[in-house]
Amino acid sequence: MEKPYYSLSEYLKGKFGERVYKISVNGGFTCPNRDGKKGVGGCIFCNEQGSGEHTLEGDITRQMEDGIAFAKAKNKGNKYIAYFQNFTSTYAPVNILRQKYAAALVNEKVVGLAVATRPDCIDEDVVKVIKEVANNRLAWVELGLQTANENTAKIINRQYSNAEFTAAVKLLNEYNIPVVVHLIVGLPNENFSDILNTVKFLNDHKIDGIKIHSLFVLKNTPLEKLYLGGKYTPIDRDFYIKCVAEILARIPKNVVVHRLTGDGDKLQILAPQWTMEKKKNLNAVYSYMVKNNLTQGCNCTK
Ligand code: SF4
Repeated sequence: MEKPYYSLSEYLKGKFGERVYKISVNGGFTCPNRDGKKGVGGCIFCNEQGSGEHTLEGDITRQMEDGIAFAKAKNKGNKYIAYFQNFTSTYAPVNILRQKYAAALVNEKVVGLAVATRPDCIDEDVVKVIKEVANNRLAWVELGLQTANENTAKIINRQYSNAEFTAAVKLLNEYNIPVVVHLIVGLPNENFSDILNTVKFLNDHKIDGIKIHSLFVLKNTPLEKLYLGGKYTPIDRDFYIKCVAEILARIPKNVVVHRLTGDGDKLQILAPQWTMEKKKNLNAVYSYMVKNNLTQGCNCTK
């Protein structure tokens, strides 16, 4: 079935003429919300992997080489994107960032550099390094937003403001670096109108991509304590499907959809169990959209 939204695989295929495989790299960063600069506990859902899943470890060049060997063996593609995923992948002095990013661009088959970070860890020097190292490769930056509701942001201990998010997007726009935004559905106390308000806020920005996932409870996180203490109830699948479909219907058609489901470590996820049924969840999003005659952007008022 043709997807009712503009997927990352479609975008990459259109750009490079073939399948492109993203290799997650652990750059060995930490996070200002963990090392004490902004906070020590981290966002309530984040565990000791720093919101990175399935990443390799150790020397960055080696991680890329291992990732490429894996992709070749599994026939996953012949071009690659180095994706700095864990923690805050711009949180280091620029000379260190330069070395780390360059170490991932191991050959000309690595056609892109993707960097995930927090909006308060983006400034002009960082942006210039990303541009410089990527050179003529594709580069994008992923920014956490999760929600535009600043009360929820306090509850999840996000420790940056919506204004910082706006400033980071503006700066990246000025340097023509595509921005991919992370949203979470199912945050504590949030309902459907919170989701719609977040989309409204997002549509006041120029963004290029979106990643959506449901909040899941990972072991050894502050959220685990809330969940076990009965203070947090995960959402159900139907609510998630509805939210995802309605978000897609409201964002512009040209925004690339990088992800619609979480992809957490099954051994670490306590709840909700349905979140691990990736294929079923994706099919449910397609079905909801078809049934309700929705396609990406059909209700976008931007
Ligand atoms: S900003 Fe990212 S790495 Fe830092 S605590 Fe929050 S989720 Fe974890």
